[in-house]
Amino acid sequence: MSWAWRIATIAGIPINIHGTFAVLIIFLLVSGLAAGRGIASAVSSVLFILAIFVTIILHELGHALTARRFGIKTRDITLLPIGGLARLERMPDVPRQELWVALAGPAVNVVIAVGCYVLLLVATGIAPVLTLDPSAAGFLGRFTAVNFALAIFNMVPAFPMDGGRALRAVLAERLDYTRATEIAASIGQGLALVFGLVGLFANPILVFIALFVWMGASSEATAAGMRAALTGIPVSRAMVTDYRTVPAGSRLRQAVELVLMGDQRDFPVVDYAGEIVGILTRDQLMSALSQQGPAGMVDEAMTTAFETVDAREMLDGAYLRLQQSSSPVLPVMDEGRVVGLLTAENVAEYVMIRGALAPGRRG
Ligand code: ZN
Repeated sequence: MSWAWRIATIAGIPINIHGTFAVLIIFLLVSGLAAGRGIASAVSSVLFILAIFVTIILHELGHALTARRFGIKTRDITLLPIGGLARLERMPDVPRQELWVALAGPAVNVVIAVGCYVLLLVATGIAPVLTLDPSAAGFLGRFTAVNFALAIFNMVPAFPMDGGRALRAVLAERLDYTRATEIAASIGQGLALVFGLVGLFANPILVFIALFVWMGASSEATAAGMRAALTGIPVSRAMVTDYRTVPAGSRLRQAVELVLMGDQRDFPVVDYAGEIVGILTRDQLMSALSQQGPAGMVDEAMTTAFETVDAREMLDGAYLRLQQSSSPVLPVMDEGRVVGLLTAENVAEYVMIRGALAPGRRG
């Protein structure tokens, strides 16, 4: 993720912090001082935000370390001003595993909240009042309240909240995955509508959250529908077969001509024997052009470390690898030769055509 800096590595997982987070800290300091509350109050509100962000790291680590137990690695955890994001390498295939991974995050908040509550109770001898109001509660009391709030907020059964994933996992134990996602997404969108309506009258932040939930729910439904549409279909059915190749050893100007000729953006580079030796993407071509000019060599601009897919491989797995790959295109191989290209646009077109032809979708 751009604009993000690595601040630590915990349990082998890089922890990044987004640049806008620094802006938030400066804003809190400046606005606290400008409001005339004094430096101590401004520093205390910054410390409070830092404490919450440590909590969010722990929440995300809850997801990541539970996923690791099921053999799923986490690429990184990034802290954004709106919360945390753990990028798992893949989602669990087994619903029960997805349920545990989803629940592990909010569970961390519950543990922290209960721990702090007990600490306050023991220290003061009276049951603490849980409120987010800075004037009514002390640092630890507010921290406890925030953790309870985070656990409840994340368990709202709507994508992309953890509660939405947990709900889908529970449904997927009984229904098929796509149907479970559709139901969970509809519930999410219904809740988003309620949030939005309430927010219009009560709190504009709710409208913002509603929008976020609505978009998360619909993108999750699309992704699941895509996955279902691609299962059991070989790559050869959805690959690009009408494409051009760049001969190895050619100059950049030849590649430029090919780019201008049609709408193909990324090209396999093949040697005289027809064997693929690299991939030249449009971005690589452009940056090489600006550095070396049209007489530069294609072989120096292309990637030689590239992934391929087999024409007989199933589309769902191949598409997942394409999404995870840094390259916008994967060459499709059949017995050692390139027979096509797999691109996200072509797969999307294939899904669209299948959807249009599906029985029961007409009329
Ligand atoms: Zn979470």
